[in-house]
Amino acid sequence: MAEVKNYDVVIVGGGTAGCILAAKLSEKGVNPETGKSLRIAVIEAGAYLKGEPKPGHGIPLRRQMYTNMPQDIRFGRNFVTPQGRGRGVGGSSLIFGSGAWFPFDEDYEEWQEETGTDWSKENFKSAIEEARRVFNVTLQPEETLSNRRAAEMFKTTAEAMGYEVLPGHSRAVKNCIFCGHCADRQICKYDSKQSTLVTHAPLAERNGVEFIANARAGRILIDRKGGKPIARGVLIRKLDLPDEIYPGDEFVDWNSAREITILAPKVIVSCGDLETPPLLYASGYGSREDCGPRLLVANRNVGRNVDGHYGEGGQVGVSGIFEEKVSGMDGGWGVDPFYHFQTKIGRDRIVLLHGYGSFPRYSFWDGQPERHALSPFAPAFGQPHKDYMRQICDPWEKESALSLKLREPVLRVTRIAVDTKLPRTAPRGRIDKDRRVQIFGEEIIGYSRETGKEERNYRSIHPEVKRVFVAGQEIATKLLEKMGAKKIFVEPIIPRDGLTFKWLTGGCRAGSDPRNSVINQNFESHDIDNLFIVDVGSIPRSPTLGLFLSICVVSIFASERIISRHLTKKA
Ligand SMILES: Cc1cc2nc3c(=O)[nH]c(=O)nc-3n(C[C@H](O)[C@H](O)[C@H](O)COP(=O)(O)OP(=O)(O)OC[C@H]3O[C@@H](n4cnc5c(N)ncnc54)[C@H](O)[C@@H]3O)c2cc1C
Ligand code: SF4
Repeated sequence: MAEVKNYDVVIVGGGTAGCILAAKLSEKGVNPETGKSLRIAVIEAGAYLKGEPKPGHGIPLRRQMYTNMPQDIRFGRNFVTPQGRGRGVGGSSLIFGSGAWFPFDEDYEEWQEETGTDWSKENFKSAIEEARRVFNVTLQPEETLSNRRAAEMFKTTAEAMGYEVLPGHSRAVKNCIFCGHCADRQICKYDSKQSTLVTHAPLAERNGVEFIANARAGRILIDRKGGKPIARGVLIRKLDLPDEIYPGDEFVDWNSAREITILAPKVIVSCGDLETPPLLYASGYGSREDCGPRLLVANRNVGRNVDGHYGEGGQVGVSGIFEEKVSGMDGGWGVDPFYHFQTKIGRDRIVLLHGYGSFPRYSFWDGQPERHALSPFAPAFGQPHKDYMRQICDPWEKESALSLKLREPVLRVTRIAVDTKLPRTAPRGRIDKDRRVQIFGEEIIGYSRETGKEERNYRSIHPEVKRVFVAGQEIATKLLEKMGAKKIFVEPIIPRDGLTFKWLTGGCRAGSDPRNSVINQNFESHDIDNLFIVDVGSIPRSPTLGLFLSICVVSIFASERIISRHLTKKA
């Protein structure tokens, strides 16, 4: 017989939002009947690298696992899902790029307008202040940035054109040495990156929360007897491995893992953009098309209404070539300041970012050496081509006369990226039971260099998306002309590998009307009592830039609402 465990609250998914919820609920929430501290379990499919952090030094376990790690971005795949999301306590915050942007004022307005939530900036005020403090959101020091000259030109020219330009190098790090190791999909061995593994898991642990790592939820237990359906707990499978060792998704056979029934009167699902909808389908919550014969509770918004960014901030752009050097390897981290501004195209907003996804000098980071190999500056064949690639792709290489000579033309280039989410008039996407994202019915499977696995890229886009990109590229072209570029490359809107579509939200979005949403503004399922959903999928519309701080403020806000409505001692 399956083992049974009882708690007051079970949080399914110990990621970015899951750890925040665990820390906050265990700190301020109580059993409403007894007034006693809550017994909380967090179910996490991946590993738990447990320990009290010392930012800048790291806990011994994490250091031991990472200090000698090769500088190879594929290495961390035990902590990455095949779709590139974080796996392990801390979730995607373990591997995020630490770029930290709060929601823009317009984002709160869109969240209210889109589905009628009361998620105003005013209501989020204390959550924003708390997130700024806890995640140490600050601008990255100027001296660690490269490409400063072009950035300055971008800023002054755009301001002269009437745009409000903002700095984009805001980070969630503490005592960071800007070694660059975490720039893409790596855990910080010094615990400087403010993942929720560092900021919230230790606090939750001190408050008595039980993290059940290497344990995958297969089904939420939904009771249909009597009136409104009610969530009773979750069925999990647990691997018998030390918490810190998770072999990677492709090496686990969950069917042969130990089964445990977790019973709890409050079930909070927090499995992230791609994994929450399939878990709900498997539990019988969604549409008939997605749940099949398992359907128990129908709501056709589960896994639908998905919004996101094409090219996640930087794939579509315009590059300008200048006569003199405008950018450089003059910084330590190789991350550009990427000033940015937003503007409107009809009723839609776009963002123009300088430096984000810049014309690659650091293929080590962007994982796309072929973009160098095919660049207009690369010698076509033979030893000169090899020398060029060897010099240009090695970020650790010491400057030499040859490397400077080879790099010289690249330092005369700067790039402006155009970013857009789905325009209002374009249909939204859908997440299917296999975690595939479908937009406009088309999906092309591509190859991801980061994970060595398949990844989704799109080869056609809705005409409305194209309209917005084209308008953005026209603005970028004008800007580069005014900056003094001698030659301008307007990049194809759909690159050879296809466009990516990421920063996904909306799969279980909040709203006042069950006909177009899954949860209400208090994170309670419209259809199932005692079931809550808190992760990026709860957000009605993709924020302007990034997702990390948005989900952090949303989770802090959610914790307050759940505590005040459900986890406060009854009078
Ligand atoms: C590589 C990468 C880089 C990024 N860089 C940035 C950036 O620089 N700036 C920015 O603003 N945003 C960035 N983001 C986005 C942001 O970090 C994420 O959107 C956000 O952290 C997601 O939070 P979440 O709580 O919704 O999900 P996650 O943090 O992904 O948590 C979901 C958790 O649930 C677990 N889980 C899933 N299914 C199950 C199950 N069935 N049973 C048990 N556990 C389960 C997962 O293992 C995971 O730990 C990045 C994201 C990625 C992936
Ligand atoms: S750059 Fe990243 S890995 Fe390096 S210390 Fe800073 S947060 Fe850590």
